[in-house]
Amino acid sequence: ASSEAEMTGQRTTREWQELDAAHHWHPFSDTKALNAEGSRVITRAEGCHVWDSDGHRILDGMAGLWCVNVGYGRTELAEVAYRQMCELPFYNCFFKTTHPTAAELAARIAEVAPPHMRRVFFTGSGSEANDTVLRLVRRYWDVMGQPERQTVISRWNAYHGSTMAGASLGGMKPMHAQGGLPIPGIAHIRQPYWFAEGREMDRDAFGLLCAQALEDKILELGPERVAAFIGEPVQGAGGVVIPPATYWPEIQRICRKYGILLVTDEVICGFGRLGTWFGAQHFGLEPDLMPIAKGLSSGYAPIGGVVIGDRVAKAVIDAGGDFNHGYTYSGHPVACAVAAENLRILKEEGIVDRVRTHTAGYFAQRWAELADHPLVGEARSVGLMGALELVADKRTMTPFTKEGETGLICREFCFREGLIMRAVRDCMIVAPPLVIRDSEIDELVRLARRCLDLTLARLRGETKLAA
Ligand code: PMP
Repeated sequence: ASSEAEMTGQRTTREWQELDAAHHWHPFSDTKALNAEGSRVITRAEGCHVWDSDGHRILDGMAGLWCVNVGYGRTELAEVAYRQMCELPFYNCFFKTTHPTAAELAARIAEVAPPHMRRVFFTGSGSEANDTVLRLVRRYWDVMGQPERQTVISRWNAYHGSTMAGASLGGMKPMHAQGGLPIPGIAHIRQPYWFAEGREMDRDAFGLLCAQALEDKILELGPERVAAFIGEPVQGAGGVVIPPATYWPEIQRICRKYGILLVTDEVICGFGRLGTWFGAQHFGLEPDLMPIAKGLSSGYAPIGGVVIGDRVAKAVIDAGGDFNHGYTYSGHPVACAVAAENLRILKEEGIVDRVRTHTAGYFAQRWAELADHPLVGEARSVGLMGALELVADKRTMTPFTKEGETGLICREFCFREGLIMRAVRDCMIVAPPLVIRDSEIDELVRLARRCLDLTLARLRGETKLAA
Protein backbone atom coordinates (compact mmCIF):
# COMPACT_ATOMS: atom_id res chain seq x y z
CA ALA A 1 0.00 0.00 0.00
CA SER A 2 2.86 2.29 0.88
CA SER A 3 4.59 1.87 -2.49
CA GLU A 4 1.33 2.51 -4.32
CA ALA A 5 0.86 5.60 -2.21
CA GLU A 6 4.37 6.71 -3.13
CA MET A 7 3.69 6.21 -6.80
CA THR A 8 0.52 8.25 -6.75
CA GLY A 9 2.01 10.79 -4.32
CA GLN A 10 -0.86 10.07 -1.94
CA ARG A 11 0.37 9.00 1.45
CA THR A 12 -1.72 8.28 4.48
CA THR A 13 -1.52 10.46 7.58
CA ARG A 14 0.56 7.79 9.31
CA GLU A 15 2.97 7.66 6.37
CA TRP A 16 3.39 11.43 6.32
CA GLN A 17 4.08 11.36 10.03
CA GLU A 18 6.69 8.63 9.66
CA LEU A 19 8.42 10.43 6.83
CA ASP A 20 8.33 13.66 8.80
CA ALA A 21 9.66 12.04 11.95
CA ALA A 22 12.49 10.39 10.01
CA HIS A 23 13.73 13.43 8.12
CA HIS A 24 12.16 16.74 9.10
CA TRP A 25 13.48 18.65 12.10
CA HIS A 26 10.85 21.20 13.18
CA PRO A 27 11.39 24.75 14.47
CA PHE A 28 10.82 25.39 18.19
CA SER A 29 10.00 21.76 18.92
CA ASP A 30 10.91 18.90 21.22
CA THR A 31 11.66 16.50 18.40
CA LYS A 32 11.71 13.46 20.64
CA ALA A 33 8.23 14.14 22.01
CA LEU A 34 6.90 15.25 18.63
CA ASN A 35 8.09 12.14 16.82
CA ALA A 36 6.57 9.89 19.45
CA GLU A 37 3.22 11.62 19.04
CA GLY A 38 3.28 12.34 15.30
CA SER A 39 2.83 15.75 13.68
CA ARG A 40 -0.50 17.11 12.59
CA VAL A 41 -0.51 17.23 8.80
CA ILE A 42 -2.16 20.29 7.26
CA THR A 43 -2.90 19.75 3.61
CA ARG A 44 -5.00 22.61 2.28
CA ALA A 45 -6.73 25.86 3.17
CA GLU A 46 -9.40 28.27 2.02
CA GLY A 47 -10.44 31.63 3.45
CA CYS A 48 -10.02 31.41 7.24
CA HIS A 49 -9.99 27.60 7.44
CA VAL A 50 -7.35 24.89 7.07
CA TRP A 51 -7.89 21.15 6.58
CA ASP A 52 -5.76 18.33 7.95
CA SER A 53 -4.85 15.07 6.22
CA ASP A 54 -7.84 13.34 7.82
CA GLY A 55 -10.21 15.90 6.36
CA HIS A 56 -10.88 17.86 9.57
CA ARG A 57 -11.82 21.48 8.98
CA ILE A 58 -10.15 23.88 11.41
CA LEU A 59 -10.76 27.62 11.88
CA ASP A 60 -7.30 29.18 11.77
CA GLY A 61 -7.39 31.64 14.66
CA MET A 62 -3.68 32.40 14.12
CA ALA A 63 -3.67 33.29 10.39
CA GLY A 64 -0.93 30.70 9.88
CA LEU A 65 1.64 32.39 12.11
CA TRP A 66 0.20 35.94 12.30
CA CYS A 67 0.70 36.31 8.58
CA VAL A 68 -2.13 35.22 6.26
CA ASN A 69 -3.80 38.64 6.41
CA VAL A 70 -5.83 38.31 3.18
CA GLY A 71 -6.85 34.73 3.98
CA TYR A 72 -6.07 31.53 2.13
CA GLY A 73 -6.91 30.67 -1.45
CA ARG A 74 -6.24 34.00 -3.18
CA THR A 75 -5.37 32.70 -6.63
CA GLU A 76 -4.31 36.19 -7.84
CA LEU A 77 -1.22 35.77 -5.67
CA ALA A 78 -0.45 32.42 -7.27
CA GLU A 79 -0.93 33.90 -10.73
CA VAL A 80 1.49 36.80 -10.23
CA ALA A 81 4.03 34.37 -8.79
CA TYR A 82 3.69 32.13 -11.84
CA ARG A 83 3.99 35.04 -14.26
CA GLN A 84 6.99 36.44 -12.43
CA MET A 85 8.74 33.06 -12.36
CA CYS A 86 8.28 32.75 -16.11
CA GLU A 87 9.53 36.28 -16.80
CA LEU A 88 12.32 36.75 -14.26
CA PRO A 89 12.47 34.16 -11.47
CA PHE A 90 15.55 35.65 -9.88
CA TYR A 91 17.99 38.44 -10.17
CA ASN A 92 20.06 40.07 -7.46
CA CYS A 93 20.06 43.72 -6.40
CA PHE A 94 23.72 43.84 -5.44
CA PHE A 95 25.90 45.06 -8.30
CA LYS A 96 24.25 48.27 -9.48
CA THR A 97 21.17 46.36 -10.65
CA THR A 98 17.51 46.37 -9.77
CA HIS A 99 14.36 44.93 -11.31
CA PRO A 100 10.85 46.35 -11.72
CA THR A 101 9.20 44.34 -8.95
CA ALA A 102 11.61 45.43 -6.20
CA ALA A 103 11.36 49.10 -7.18
CA GLU A 104 7.57 48.87 -7.50
CA LEU A 105 7.08 47.14 -4.16
CA ALA A 106 9.33 49.58 -2.29
CA ALA A 107 7.30 52.47 -3.73
CA ARG A 108 4.00 50.85 -2.72
CA ILE A 109 5.21 50.30 0.83
CA ALA A 110 6.33 53.94 1.00
CA GLU A 111 2.80 54.98 -0.05
CA VAL A 112 1.24 53.43 3.05
CA ALA A 113 4.10 54.09 5.49
CA PRO A 114 4.27 57.28 7.59
CA PRO A 115 5.28 60.16 5.26
CA HIS A 116 8.83 60.46 6.61
CA MET A 117 9.57 56.80 5.75
CA ARG A 118 10.28 56.46 2.07
CA ARG A 119 12.84 53.70 1.64
CA VAL A 120 12.84 49.94 2.09
CA PHE A 121 15.70 47.48 2.48
CA PHE A 122 14.44 43.97 1.59
CA THR A 123 15.16 40.75 3.44
CA GLY A 124 13.82 37.21 3.36
CA SER A 125 12.22 37.21 6.82
CA GLY A 126 11.46 39.13 9.97
CA SER A 127 14.55 37.82 11.69
CA GLU A 128 16.74 39.02 8.84
CA ALA A 129 14.95 42.36 9.05
CA ASN A 130 16.01 42.71 12.67
CA ASP A 131 19.59 41.72 11.84
CA THR A 132 19.45 44.52 9.29
CA VAL A 133 18.13 46.89 11.98
CA LEU A 134 21.11 46.15 14.20
CA ARG A 135 23.61 46.63 11.35
CA LEU A 136 21.88 49.80 10.19
CA VAL A 137 21.59 51.58 13.56
CA ARG A 138 25.28 50.95 14.19
CA ARG A 139 26.14 52.17 10.69
CA TYR A 140 24.04 55.26 11.35
CA TRP A 141 25.88 56.16 14.52
CA ASP A 142 29.23 55.46 12.81
CA VAL A 143 28.53 57.96 10.08
CA MET A 144 27.24 60.40 12.69
CA GLY A 145 30.67 60.26 14.31
CA GLN A 146 29.38 58.58 17.46
CA PRO A 147 30.56 54.98 16.99
CA GLU A 148 30.36 54.36 20.75
CA ARG A 149 26.57 54.41 20.41
CA GLN A 150 26.32 50.62 20.04
CA THR A 151 23.72 49.40 22.49
CA VAL A 152 20.15 48.65 21.52
CA ILE A 153 17.63 48.53 24.34
CA SER A 154 14.81 46.01 24.05
CA ARG A 155 12.39 44.37 26.48
CA TRP A 156 12.05 41.10 28.30
CA ASN A 157 9.51 38.80 26.68
CA ALA A 158 9.88 40.59 23.34
CA TYR A 159 10.13 38.53 20.16
CA HIS A 160 12.31 39.81 17.33
CA GLY A 161 13.27 36.58 15.55
CA SER A 162 15.52 33.59 15.88
CA THR A 163 18.79 34.53 14.18
CA MET A 164 21.64 35.47 16.53
CA ALA A 165 20.72 39.17 16.43
CA GLY A 166 16.97 38.52 16.35
CA ALA A 167 17.04 36.21 19.35
CA SER A 168 19.39 38.57 21.19
CA LEU A 169 17.15 41.56 20.57
CA GLY A 170 14.27 39.41 21.72
CA GLY A 171 13.76 38.93 25.41
CA MET A 172 12.92 35.23 25.53
CA LYS A 173 15.06 33.72 28.27
CA PRO A 174 14.73 30.11 27.04
CA MET A 175 16.13 31.27 23.68
CA HIS A 176 19.01 33.15 25.33
CA ALA A 177 19.83 30.03 27.33
CA GLN A 178 20.72 28.12 24.16
CA GLY A 179 23.72 29.44 22.28
CA GLY A 180 25.18 32.00 24.66
CA LEU A 181 22.84 34.90 23.94
CA PRO A 182 22.34 37.79 23.94
CA ILE A 183 25.29 38.93 21.84
CA PRO A 184 27.07 42.01 23.25
CA GLY A 185 25.51 45.46 22.94
CA ILE A 186 21.93 44.56 23.73
CA ALA A 187 20.15 45.44 26.99
CA HIS A 188 16.65 44.55 28.18
CA ILE A 189 14.12 46.42 30.29
CA ARG A 190 10.76 45.39 31.74
CA GLN A 191 7.70 44.94 29.53
CA PRO A 192 4.37 46.81 29.89
CA TYR A 193 2.45 43.64 30.80
CA TRP A 194 -0.24 44.95 33.14
CA PHE A 195 -2.02 41.66 33.86
CA ALA A 196 1.15 39.78 34.80
CA GLU A 197 3.21 42.53 36.43
CA GLY A 198 1.09 45.55 37.26
CA ARG A 199 -2.34 44.48 38.40
CA GLU A 200 -2.10 46.25 41.74
CA MET A 201 -1.62 49.56 39.89
CA ASP A 202 -3.73 51.82 37.73
CA ARG A 203 -3.04 50.92 34.06
CA ASP A 204 -1.86 54.36 33.02
CA ALA A 205 0.43 54.73 36.00
CA PHE A 206 1.86 51.30 35.21
CA GLY A 207 2.46 52.33 31.59
CA LEU A 208 4.48 55.34 32.74
CA LEU A 209 6.42 53.22 35.21
CA CYS A 210 7.42 50.78 32.46
CA ALA A 211 8.44 53.63 30.14
CA GLN A 212 10.52 55.13 32.95
CA ALA A 213 12.55 51.90 32.89
CA LEU A 214 13.84 53.02 29.50
CA GLU A 215 15.14 56.30 30.84
CA ASP A 216 16.67 54.54 33.84
CA LYS A 217 18.48 52.11 31.53
CA ILE A 218 19.70 54.92 29.25
CA LEU A 219 21.14 56.77 32.26
CA GLU A 220 22.67 53.56 33.63
CA LEU A 221 24.42 52.78 30.33
CA GLY A 222 25.19 56.42 29.56
CA PRO A 223 23.13 58.10 26.80
CA GLU A 224 26.27 58.45 24.67
CA ARG A 225 26.40 54.65 24.39
CA VAL A 226 22.77 53.99 23.47
CA ALA A 227 21.91 53.57 19.78
CA ALA A 228 18.22 52.67 19.69
CA PHE A 229 15.15 51.32 21.41
CA ILE A 230 13.21 48.49 19.75
CA GLY A 231 9.72 47.26 20.59
CA GLU A 232 6.73 45.54 19.03
CA PRO A 233 3.80 48.01 19.15
CA VAL A 234 1.85 45.10 20.67
CA GLN A 235 3.97 42.14 21.75
CA GLY A 236 2.73 39.12 19.83
CA ALA A 237 4.60 35.94 20.68
CA GLY A 238 4.98 37.18 24.25
CA GLY A 239 1.21 36.80 24.67
CA VAL A 240 -0.55 39.74 22.96
CA VAL A 241 0.71 42.22 25.52
CA ILE A 242 -1.22 45.44 24.90
CA PRO A 243 0.59 48.39 26.48
CA PRO A 244 -1.37 50.93 28.54
CA ALA A 245 -2.22 54.10 26.55
CA THR A 246 0.44 56.10 28.40
CA TYR A 247 3.31 53.80 27.43
CA TRP A 248 4.24 54.53 23.80
CA PRO A 249 3.98 58.35 23.91
CA GLU A 250 6.31 58.35 26.90
CA ILE A 251 8.75 55.93 25.21
CA GLN A 252 8.84 58.22 22.17
CA ARG A 253 9.40 61.29 24.36
CA ILE A 254 12.35 59.60 26.10
CA CYS A 255 13.89 58.45 22.79
CA ARG A 256 13.71 62.03 21.50
CA LYS A 257 15.09 63.49 24.71
CA TYR A 258 18.26 61.41 24.36
CA GLY A 259 18.37 61.43 20.57
CA ILE A 260 18.19 57.65 20.29
CA LEU A 261 16.51 55.90 17.38
CA LEU A 262 13.04 54.43 17.77
CA VAL A 263 12.42 51.08 16.08
CA THR A 264 8.90 49.63 15.98
CA ASP A 265 8.98 45.96 15.02
CA GLU A 266 5.99 45.75 12.70
CA VAL A 267 6.42 42.12 11.70
CA ILE A 268 3.06 41.27 13.29
CA CYS A 269 1.35 44.66 13.63
CA GLY A 270 2.18 45.79 10.09
CA PHE A 271 -0.25 45.50 7.17
CA GLY A 272 -3.51 45.95 8.96
CA ARG A 273 -3.46 43.83 12.12
CA LEU A 274 -4.46 46.84 14.27
CA GLY A 275 -6.67 48.46 11.64
CA THR A 276 -3.88 50.76 10.46
CA TRP A 277 -1.15 49.98 7.95
CA PHE A 278 1.40 49.92 10.76
CA GLY A 279 1.18 49.61 14.53
CA ALA A 280 3.13 52.87 14.84
CA GLN A 281 0.19 54.69 13.24
CA HIS A 282 -2.26 53.11 15.68
CA PHE A 283 -0.20 54.45 18.60
CA GLY A 284 0.64 57.79 16.93
CA LEU A 285 4.39 57.11 16.72
CA GLU A 286 7.05 58.35 14.33
CA PRO A 287 9.61 55.57 14.30
CA ASP A 288 13.00 55.80 12.58
CA LEU A 289 12.96 52.17 11.43
CA MET A 290 10.23 49.57 10.98
CA PRO A 291 11.17 45.92 10.42
CA ILE A 292 8.39 44.18 8.45
CA ALA A 293 7.58 40.67 7.14
CA LYS A 294 4.60 38.27 7.49
CA GLY A 295 1.55 40.31 6.36
CA LEU A 296 3.67 42.03 3.69
CA SER A 297 2.98 39.02 1.47
CA SER A 298 0.23 37.52 3.65
CA GLY A 299 2.70 34.66 4.05
CA TYR A 300 2.29 33.56 0.41
CA ALA A 301 6.01 34.15 -0.20
CA PRO A 302 8.87 34.59 2.27
CA ILE A 303 9.79 38.26 2.35
CA GLY A 304 10.65 40.90 4.91
CA GLY A 305 12.34 44.25 5.03
CA VAL A 306 13.14 47.39 6.97
CA VAL A 307 11.25 50.60 6.24
CA ILE A 308 13.70 53.44 6.78
CA GLY A 309 12.91 56.95 7.97
CA ASP A 310 14.50 60.08 6.50
CA ARG A 311 16.74 60.75 9.49
CA VAL A 312 18.64 57.47 9.07
CA ALA A 313 18.38 57.32 5.28
CA LYS A 314 19.70 60.84 4.74
CA ALA A 315 22.65 60.45 7.09
CA VAL A 316 23.76 57.06 5.82
CA ILE A 317 23.20 57.80 2.13
CA ASP A 318 24.77 61.27 2.23
CA ALA A 319 27.82 59.91 4.06
CA GLY A 320 28.54 57.71 1.03
CA GLY A 321 30.43 54.42 1.13
CA ASP A 322 29.10 50.88 1.01
CA PHE A 323 26.67 49.46 3.55
CA ASN A 324 28.27 46.03 3.76
CA HIS A 325 25.10 44.09 4.29
CA GLY A 326 22.56 42.21 2.17
CA TYR A 327 21.02 38.89 1.29
CA THR A 328 20.82 36.87 -1.92
CA TYR A 329 17.06 37.16 -1.61
CA SER A 330 16.96 40.91 -0.81
CA GLY A 331 14.25 42.03 -3.23
CA HIS A 332 13.54 38.55 -4.60
CA PRO A 333 11.45 39.17 -7.75
CA VAL A 334 8.83 36.50 -7.09
CA ALA A 335 8.39 37.44 -3.43
CA CYS A 336 8.21 41.13 -4.39
CA ALA A 337 5.59 40.45 -7.06
CA VAL A 338 3.46 38.49 -4.60
CA ALA A 339 3.82 41.18 -1.93
CA ALA A 340 2.89 43.95 -4.38
CA GLU A 341 -0.25 42.07 -5.41
CA ASN A 342 -1.04 41.43 -1.74
CA LEU A 343 -0.81 45.17 -1.02
CA ARG A 344 -3.13 45.83 -3.96
CA ILE A 345 -5.68 43.41 -2.50
CA LEU A 346 -5.39 44.89 1.01
CA LYS A 347 -5.87 48.38 -0.41
CA GLU A 348 -8.45 47.90 -3.15
CA GLU A 349 -10.66 45.65 -1.07
CA GLY A 350 -10.44 48.06 1.86
CA ILE A 351 -9.33 45.24 4.16
CA VAL A 352 -7.25 47.42 6.50
CA ASP A 353 -9.98 50.06 6.76
CA ARG A 354 -12.58 47.40 7.43
CA VAL A 355 -10.58 46.08 10.38
CA ARG A 356 -10.57 49.61 11.83
CA THR A 357 -14.16 50.58 11.08
CA HIS A 358 -15.87 47.26 11.69
CA THR A 359 -14.12 43.95 12.37
CA ALA A 360 -11.94 45.00 15.32
CA GLY A 361 -15.01 46.37 17.11
CA TYR A 362 -17.11 43.29 16.51
CA PHE A 363 -14.22 41.02 17.53
CA ALA A 364 -13.57 43.09 20.69
CA GLN A 365 -17.22 42.84 21.72
CA ARG A 366 -17.51 39.08 21.15
CA TRP A 367 -14.08 38.28 22.61
CA ALA A 368 -14.83 40.30 25.78
CA GLU A 369 -17.80 38.00 26.44
CA LEU A 370 -15.34 35.22 27.26
CA ALA A 371 -14.28 37.18 30.37
CA ASP A 372 -17.21 35.66 32.27
CA HIS A 373 -15.75 32.15 31.98
CA PRO A 374 -14.51 30.73 35.30
CA LEU A 375 -11.03 30.04 33.83
CA VAL A 376 -10.54 33.50 32.33
CA GLY A 377 -8.80 36.16 34.43
CA GLU A 378 -8.73 38.69 31.60
CA ALA A 379 -9.97 38.82 28.01
CA ARG A 380 -8.19 41.57 26.08
CA SER A 381 -7.96 42.54 22.44
CA VAL A 382 -6.74 45.23 20.09
CA GLY A 383 -7.38 45.20 16.36
CA LEU A 384 -7.51 41.54 15.41
CA MET A 385 -5.29 40.26 18.22
CA GLY A 386 -6.82 38.70 21.31
CA ALA A 387 -5.65 37.03 24.52
CA LEU A 388 -7.31 35.11 27.35
CA GLU A 389 -5.42 34.84 30.62
CA LEU A 390 -6.27 31.49 32.19
CA VAL A 391 -6.11 31.44 35.98
CA ALA A 392 -6.49 28.78 38.67
CA ASP A 393 -8.61 31.02 40.89
CA LYS A 394 -10.49 33.81 39.27
CA ARG A 395 -11.34 35.63 42.49
CA THR A 396 -7.71 36.03 43.54
CA MET A 397 -6.27 35.78 39.99
CA THR A 398 -3.96 33.04 41.18
CA PRO A 399 -1.93 31.47 38.36
CA PHE A 400 -1.63 27.71 37.91
CA THR A 401 1.07 25.98 39.93
CA LYS A 402 2.60 24.31 36.90
CA GLU A 403 2.87 27.16 34.41
CA GLY A 404 1.98 26.30 30.84
CA GLU A 405 0.24 23.00 31.46
CA THR A 406 -3.33 24.32 31.28
CA GLY A 407 -2.55 26.32 28.16
CA LEU A 408 -1.39 23.18 26.38
CA ILE A 409 -4.47 21.24 27.50
CA CYS A 410 -6.67 23.98 26.11
CA ARG A 411 -4.67 24.12 22.86
CA GLU A 412 -5.15 20.36 22.37
CA PHE A 413 -8.92 20.67 22.87
CA CYS A 414 -8.97 23.53 20.38
CA PHE A 415 -7.30 21.45 17.67
CA ARG A 416 -9.68 18.60 18.35
CA GLU A 417 -12.75 20.83 18.24
CA GLY A 418 -11.66 22.63 15.07
CA LEU A 419 -10.00 25.85 16.22
CA ILE A 420 -6.38 26.93 16.12
CA MET A 421 -5.66 28.99 19.20
CA ARG A 422 -2.08 29.33 20.41
CA ALA A 423 -0.95 28.88 24.02
CA VAL A 424 1.70 31.19 25.47
CA ARG A 425 2.27 29.93 28.98
CA ASP A 426 -1.36 29.79 30.24
CA CYS A 427 -2.48 32.59 27.98
CA MET A 428 -4.53 31.65 24.92
CA ILE A 429 -4.04 33.94 21.93
CA VAL A 430 -5.60 34.50 18.53
CA ALA A 431 -4.84 36.67 15.49
CA PRO A 432 -7.16 35.53 12.69
CA PRO A 433 -6.96 36.51 9.00
CA LEU A 434 -8.08 40.14 8.56
CA VAL A 435 -10.82 39.02 6.18
CA ILE A 436 -12.61 37.06 8.91
CA ARG A 437 -16.41 37.47 8.68
CA ASP A 438 -18.70 38.16 11.62
CA SER A 439 -20.13 34.64 11.37
CA GLU A 440 -16.59 33.26 11.59
CA ILE A 441 -15.86 35.42 14.64
CA ASP A 442 -19.02 33.92 16.16
CA GLU A 443 -17.67 30.45 15.33
CA LEU A 444 -14.28 31.36 16.87
CA VAL A 445 -15.83 32.58 20.12
CA ARG A 446 -18.23 29.62 20.33
CA LEU A 447 -15.39 27.11 19.84
CA ALA A 448 -13.13 28.98 22.26
CA ARG A 449 -15.83 28.83 24.95
CA ARG A 450 -16.40 25.15 24.31
CA CYS A 451 -12.67 24.45 24.68
CA LEU A 452 -12.49 26.49 27.89
CA ASP A 453 -15.37 24.34 29.20
CA LEU A 454 -13.56 21.16 28.21
CA THR A 455 -10.35 22.41 29.82
CA LEU A 456 -12.16 23.27 33.03
CA ALA A 457 -13.81 19.86 33.08
CA ARG A 458 -10.44 18.19 32.59
CA LEU A 459 -8.93 20.22 35.44
CA ARG A 460 -11.82 19.19 37.68
CA GLY A 461 -11.28 15.59 36.71
CA GLU A 462 -14.59 15.30 34.87
CA THR A 463 -13.02 13.30 32.09
CA LYS A 464 -16.41 12.14 30.83
CA LEU A 465 -17.10 15.62 29.46
CA ALA A 466 -13.70 15.71 27.82
CA ALA A 467 -14.06 12.35 26.09
N1 PMP B 1 9.54 40.16 14.87
C1 PMP B 1 8.32 39.83 15.34
C2 PMP B 1 7.56 40.86 16.11
C3 PMP B 1 7.80 38.56 15.11
O1 PMP B 1 6.61 38.23 15.61
C4 PMP B 1 8.54 37.63 14.36
C5 PMP B 1 8.02 36.25 14.04
N2 PMP B 1 7.01 35.75 14.82
C6 PMP B 1 9.81 38.01 13.90
C7 PMP B 1 10.27 39.28 14.15
C8 PMP B 1 10.67 37.07 13.14
O2 PMP B 1 10.18 36.85 11.88
P1 PMP B 1 10.61 35.53 11.06
O3 PMP B 1 10.06 34.37 11.78
O4 PMP B 1 10.02 35.78 9.70
O5 PMP B 1 12.09 35.51 11.00
